[in-house]
Amino acid sequence: MEDAESYRAFVAERRERILSRLADAAARAGRDPAEVTLLAVSKTVGPEEVALAWEAGYRAFGENRPQELNRKLEGAKAYPQMAGARFDMIGNLQKNKINQVVGRVALIHSIRSEELAREVSQRSLTHDVVSDVLLEVNVSGEESKSGFSPDEAREAAERVVALPGIRVQGLMTMAPAGQPDVARRTFCGLRELAEDLRARTGLSLPTLSCGMSDDYPIAVEEGSTVVRLGRIVFDPKYVMA
Ligand SMILES: *Cc1c(COP(=O)(O)O)cnc(C)c1O
Repeated sequence: MEDAESYRAFVAERRERILSRLADAAARAGRDPAEVTLLAVSKTVGPEEVALAWEAGYRAFGENRPQELNRKLEGAKAYPQMAGARFDMIGNLQKNKINQVVGRVALIHSIRSEELAREVSQRSLTHDVVSDVLLEVNVSGEESKSGFSPDEAREAAERVVALPGIRVQGLMTMAPAGQPDVARRTFCGLRELAEDLRARTGLSLPTLSCGMSDDYPIAVEEGSTVVRLGRIVFDPKYVMA
């Protein structure tokens, strides 16, 4: 971090612009912006920047690697005001790392297969917790993206929601970069899949985790309840559209 004071000012000013764009997007869709949780994806910054973001008003953070999650949880202990900060796991979770995450995060966004769902359920029970999770769905069908295909999600839904160590709270997806129209179709597809899965499972599946720095206004228009923002929150070089 260059200079804490100027970084503090940057994060606070950026946050105002992010919230204002989020509110505009919500208004266009007739939604209450309070329905949308802003998750600050802190994977590229250190505990000091996370603490400054907390000061600016962020209350929920996302990490994509267990080791980095651990560093942030440990780092947060130096900031008593951050007690109770929410950390979510948003990235690829390898089987041998599940124990580092279960019981330490509010929500695991990245359940990419039925097998992983079973593992996380099992480990959660071992830790005497029930983990809140999202099913990651590859709505856009890009080969480079992981997750359930929509058909796999439909096929596995009833078995997955019956697992005793997890509570499925909804769905997560990532849209292809740089293609706003495809992003919109992706987010819309996620919302429609959630409706289908609600009918199949009887669960309320309230959470739709979608939208990142480049496409979160579109995601909010299409029903996102959690936007995962990294560069736009933390990177002074990121240029807001
Ligand atoms: C890094 C990351 C983000 C944030 O991406 P930005 O484009 O920097 O906002 C969101 N979701 C996941 C899963 C990520 O790994």
